[in-house]
Amino acid sequence: MTFLVETATGPIQSSELGRVLMHEHVFVISTEIQQNYPQEWGDEQFRIDDAIKRLNELKDSGIDTILDPTAIGLGRYIPRIQQVAKEIDLRIICATGLYTFNELPHYYRRRSSSGVDALTTHFVQDIVEGFADTGVKAGVIKCATDKPGLTPDVERVLRACAQAHRETGCPITTHTNAEAERGLDQQRIFDEEGVDLTRVVIGHCGDTNDLDYLQQLLDAGSILGMDRFGIDGYLTTDERVEVVAQLCEMGYAQQLVLSHDASCYIDWIEGEVPLTPLPNWHYLHISKDVIPALLEAGVSNEQIDTMLIDTPKQFLESQNLGGY
Ligand SMILES: [Zn+2]
Repeated sequence: MTFLVETATGPIQSSELGRVLMHEHVFVISTEIQQNYPQEWGDEQFRIDDAIKRLNELKDSGIDTILDPTAIGLGRYIPRIQQVAKEIDLRIICATGLYTFNELPHYYRRRSSSGVDALTTHFVQDIVEGFADTGVKAGVIKCATDKPGLTPDVERVLRACAQAHRETGCPITTHTNAEAERGLDQQRIFDEEGVDLTRVVIGHCGDTNDLDYLQQLLDAGSILGMDRFGIDGYLTTDERVEVVAQLCEMGYAQQLVLSHDASCYIDWIEGEVPLTPLPNWHYLHISKDVIPALLEAGVSNEQIDTMLIDTPKQFLESQNLGGY
């Protein structure tokens, strides 16, 4: 059975996905600020060429596809992603959804017609018709729950994501604050909305070594994003490797995916990637450092293939199981 997966250059067979990093951004941009203070972004073509170079290096390191969960709130602009994607062999999967820790943009405050949340309408439109007039369709739905927890607006986003998922079958990937155990809040809301939790990646689980918390999420069926390799502030690479190795040992390899949550350019921190405070936070850290370290820690080649190939493929294919 073959399945189609939507990418920035059109649908591909799921068998073509290859090795997938399940949470990498291309550009994270504060759009309104950049439009008014464009000096740091600089030359548009320079930024596009820089992304092409970095993503080509990633492809050369053995990665075939990235899932780019840059939703509304993170500066998503699909025409720019298309310009990059058409010049490279690596595939980019784009996301619908909305990223906020607290409140919705005012635009959404009073919008819903005939009882349907405008968020849901937009998410479904990105999945079914595509982003604006680009012809590119979303392959995943993204949302976030951070320290502030389920604020009224964050809960509204989660429920809208769940409803778009129910309507289309498109899978869900999230941002969480692991220390505050926000993944459990997300699972509760998704479960209430009738989402099959095996079709959800709870993101940023690699930021904690609290195995009790991680096991609760795993036993409810979700996939865990061990997806911030290189962000040493939460856990070092050695600590992150240790947690993945322990979970593999416990038999959970098929519920883990790997990534960095890195970007070519992110305007949240001054400077160019790799940023001075985060020397390992770049696309090549997993290929160059993390995979050898996992093997050293007793993870098998087969388990690495499971985390990079089989589980992402299964998760992304589930898009075609929609309309339940
Ligand atoms: Zn991210």
